[in-house]
Amino acid sequence: MKFDSKDIFNKDRHPILVAGPCSAESEKQVMEVASALVGRGLSFFRAGVWKPRTRPGCFEGMGEAALPWLQRVKNEFGLPVAVEVATAEHVRLVLDAGIDMLWVGARTTTNPFAVQEIADSLRGADVPVFVKNPVNPDIELWVGALERLGNAGVTRLGAIHRGFSSYAEKCFRNAPQWQIPLELRRRFPDMPILCDPSHIGGKRELVMMLSQQAMDLNFDGLMVETHCNPQCALSDARQQVTPDELSMIMGRLVKRSAIESCDDFLSYRNQIDAIDLQLVELLEKRMSLSREIGMLKKENGHAIYQPARYNEVLEHCVRCCKDKEMNIDAVKGIFELIHSESVRLQLDIVNEKTGNDTIIS
Ligand code: PEP
Ligand code: MN
Repeated sequence: MKFDSKDIFNKDRHPILVAGPCSAESEKQVMEVASALVGRGLSFFRAGVWKPRTRPGCFEGMGEAALPWLQRVKNEFGLPVAVEVATAEHVRLVLDAGIDMLWVGARTTTNPFAVQEIADSLRGADVPVFVKNPVNPDIELWVGALERLGNAGVTRLGAIHRGFSSYAEKCFRNAPQWQIPLELRRRFPDMPILCDPSHIGGKRELVMMLSQQAMDLNFDGLMVETHCNPQCALSDARQQVTPDELSMIMGRLVKRSAIESCDDFLSYRNQIDAIDLQLVELLEKRMSLSREIGMLKKENGHAIYQPARYNEVLEHCVRCCKDKEMNIDAVKGIFELIHSESVRLQLDIVNEKTGNDTIIS
């Protein structure tokens, strides 16, 4: 798949900024926000027209009636405009209205039928499309949606990281799980990836901190929900910032650059590569001991999983970390993975398999 974004993403204007209200609420509100955002470095003015709400009875957007307001924003302020689409009918309407950028929302990305319908209706259209991550932390669904659009001939594709919903998460509305967009970046190094700190944080107080983290992680830009009177917004009132707050955030952001020449880093990176090699060799030794223990368990009719031993392994690892400058939880996470791989290997032995087909989660 090829991502060509040159003509819409001017690197001089890095970071790409998409801003505007969560929802287009009225013509007056849209024009008010847009006029306040003119001259603040936007690449696109966003506004939700059809709002996918979790529960019925919430404001579900003004629908088709809002499209002429966005056309006014484009014509009167010269701001390119962006809208979320969730169905083929939405695509038809926004293309007819001359909307400049489309994005697929998080709830839609979870549904391959809906994404395929959108992709099919975009055949032959020359418009950039951004895909938000699915609400669940499944990178393959995200990639799958991008592929469906790519296969339908959409060449200007981008992604938006808006975090992942979780039952337990308290601090963020949607947990960032940065490793997932970073893996997307690894797979598609040339594709622009924006961060949506508004939907990750769910609170305007978190927008600055999350935007800075996105810059630190080399995201290409931000999508920030912006409203002139956020408290009274009909959707996502807690997380929208005012145009002045947006300018303050953008002004305070420390921009990071990609590493152009590796010279300064080469010696460190070589050392890290050598250590990684040693780690792999040690892991191989550990796995081979696990296999031998697995044979013994099999011969003696013992259960593979021994909770007391698992606790011992984790406690030993915590003791080893004592007085070391390391995050114990991270190290424990690594040992949890190692242990689960040992259990998988031993299950294969008991079941007399040789391949990798036992899955432990
Ligand atoms: C939005 O951008 O307003 C929106 C509905 O976002 P998400 O799809 O990330 O929930
Ligand atoms: Mn929103």
